[in-house]
Amino acid sequence: MSSVPVPENESARLQLLYELDLLDTQADPLFDRITGLVKELLDADVAVISLIDKERQWFKAKVGFDVAETPREESFCTHVVASGDTMHIDNALEDVRFSSNPHVVSEGGIRSYAGAPITLFDDHHLGTLCVISQHPNKFSNTQLRYLETLAHWLSETIADRYAIDNYQAERDVLAHGPVCAVVWRVEPHVHLSYVAENAARVLGYSSDYLLREDTHFESIVHPEERDELLQRMQNVLDGKQEVLEMDYRVIQPGQSDADAQWIQHYARADRDSAGNIVRVRGYLLNDSKGKRMEMALREANQNFELALAAGEFFTWSWDMLADELHVSHPWSLIAGYSADEEQQLNWREVIPAEDLSYVQQRMREHATGHTKRFDVRFRVKHKHGHYVWLHSVGRIIARDEMGQATKIAGVHHDISRQVADEKLLAQQTELLELVSHVQHSFMLSKSFTEVCDHALPKLMAMTASHVGFVGELPAQSQHRNLLRVHGIRLGTAQHESESVKRLGQQRLEVEAKGQLLQSVLTAGEPKFHHQRLKPEDLSLAPLTLPPLNNALIMPLYFRREVVGLMILANADGGFSQRYLGLLRPMLDTFGTLMHMRRMDEERQQAVETLRKLATTDELTGLANRRVFWEAAQQRFDEFMRYQVPMTIAIIDLDHFKQVNDTFGHGAGDDVLREFCRRTQAQLRDMDLFGRLGGEEFAILFAHTAVDDAIQALERVRKAIAAEPVSVEGEEIAVTISAGMAQLRQSDNKLDQWMARADEALYQAKEQGRNQCVAVSENESGYTKLN
Ligand code: GH3
Ligand code: MG
Ligand code: MG
Repeated sequence: MSSVPVPENESARLQLLYELDLLDTQADPLFDRITGLVKELLDADVAVISLIDKERQWFKAKVGFDVAETPREESFCTHVVASGDTMHIDNALEDVRFSSNPHVVSEGGIRSYAGAPITLFDDHHLGTLCVISQHPNKFSNTQLRYLETLAHWLSETIADRYAIDNYQAERDVLAHGPVCAVVWRVEPHVHLSYVAENAARVLGYSSDYLLREDTHFESIVHPEERDELLQRMQNVLDGKQEVLEMDYRVIQPGQSDADAQWIQHYARADRDSAGNIVRVRGYLLNDSKGKRMEMALREANQNFELALAAGEFFTWSWDMLADELHVSHPWSLIAGYSADEEQQLNWREVIPAEDLSYVQQRMREHATGHTKRFDVRFRVKHKHGHYVWLHSVGRIIARDEMGQATKIAGVHHDISRQVADEKLLAQQTELLELVSHVQHSFMLSKSFTEVCDHALPKLMAMTASHVGFVGELPAQSQHRNLLRVHGIRLGTAQHESESVKRLGQQRLEVEAKGQLLQSVLTAGEPKFHHQRLKPEDLSLAPLTLPPLNNALIMPLYFRREVVGLMILANADGGFSQRYLGLLRPMLDTFGTLMHMRRMDEERQQAVETLRKLATTDELTGLANRRVFWEAAQQRFDEFMRYQVPMTIAIIDLDHFKQVNDTFGHGAGDDVLREFCRRTQAQLRDMDLFGRLGGEEFAILFAHTAVDDAIQALERVRKAIAAEPVSVEGEEIAVTISAGMAQLRQSDNKLDQWMARADEALYQAKEQGRNQCVAVSENESGYTKLN
């Protein structure tokens, strides 16, 4: 076989030859007729159609010859197949290639040969159409052209048959497959003109039914997709669209929607040479199985996303090479941006700079293998300005061949509420600590103002507000418009200093005006105000308040009574309802402390009143007998220890009974009071003036000798006698008598000292009244002074 020339594409050629299914088949009358014709035309003994197999040539048709096949290496035709050119040999004995060929050298051997290749697909030379004779021949060009033409025609016939076979086979496959071919004619109206036999199986409707004039194809399409199909079909007919590709459901006769079949519809327009659309061809693929799987998968995916979303978990992946972030949620869910805005959104811009650098730092740590997973909490700025907290957990899911991370994926979770809760918890703790501090320091200082001064700035910091005020309603506040100021912070130094100055003038009371304040004080309900406040909403004259952008006004209660209020205003982020809950313990504490402060004040007043009642004389306001004796006793003791001089004087009004009798008891009282006033005016602060009872009084001159005291007493006597007391138009003349004595070392008891003064008084009366008598120091007698 080494001498046999072989074409370059031998294996493909053989493959095609076997596929054509010509070898070892029955004779074909058409082919026989051609060989007959060639034999005539080329004036030969034999004509054959020879096919060159791997090791033989087999004759599909033969005339003048009766051998089925011969070995390939002896074949003349194999040379034609190898070269692809027509070959003619006029005398084989003269051709070195064939002169020793067994078919040449044998008796009656071949002398002349002409063969043209049978060629499919340009270069697959399968065999030849050839003629052979036992005599030398001189082939004319015309003869050779006949041979080539017929070989060419033969080639095309074989190719056509092959194509038809294939087409048939394809049709067969299609007819048993899931695709149904259909054709719509366009004129006179759009209607199916061809429907493949398998329509019943693919679509659930027979082709006969579909082809009926009164059947409209769209009637089998599910109503939900029907209009779209018609619209898109129209687009194809209008030439707006060359191809139609669409999925829709075909409803099944007598069955529910759930049993509808999913059809993948592919159609394109056929045009005539003038470019007019003459028909539309379509392929309808029943893809229900795939579609149901796809839907099930999508649903499973959706359910998964929904389950994640229900827990506010969203998936994300970041392609680090392309720098593309994919998130399973629209940003509107997290950051409030609409779909359009989202297109423009650079996710880096919604993360505050300090958070972003932290996130990137953690990302680097994870990408370089320092952490097992990427795990961060960061903020996203919401379109409305506030922050949303996200917790993001992820892991590198792809690396390049260098080991560099290229893709990371994970989930994130909105933890704003959790963060807010944590913050609230921290604030609650802080507030409770403050409450306890406030209670404790109130117990120590008893000053509610001091307590407010400490607590108010802290409450303002907690609520990020810049104005704060705590005021108390005075106990007997009828109009509920005066507030006693306990704490005030006005945000600016200027407002503060001005206001404090004015407050000083008003003795720490302000007038609560404005409907907001009034409604809080009268209705006892807290009020939120979220817009700019006007003076008619809230004013605290004479304070000058800074402009207020928002305010939270909270009543302070004790039991069921509003005892004051607290104002917080100009909060950075406005006030939310939760502040009330947060501040409640402090409000209650303030209310209680205010009440306690008030009670304390009232108690102190009561004690003071009682003390006064117990120690002073009601009519004159002087020290009463008991207080006077006690003071005298103290001076007595002091003298006994230090021998500092002490003098006592006892004064009695002269003929006072007559005053009463003449002018009445009331006038007498007035006279007594006037006597006290005039006497007091003559005394030093350290002299104690008391009423012993009735119209009898006493003066204790501490650290004073009788000689000095008597001067003072004389001034008193003269001041009384000098002019009458006028009472309701009456002029009442009064005088006094007084006796005085100095305390002596020999006095055993207070009484002895008093008795001496009494004795002197008696003397004064005896000697004619309106005079002062002192017991002299030497015990020998009395000194009368006039
Ligand atoms: P004298 O002392 O000069 O001997 O004469 P007298 O009239 O003052 O004498 P006496 O001491 O007996 O009278 C005191 C009178 O003072 C009796 C009483 O009615 C009157 N008196 C005592 N306490 C009050 C008082 O609180 N108000 C008035 N209006 N009178 C009083
Ligand atoms: Mg008297
Ligand atoms: Mg008297």
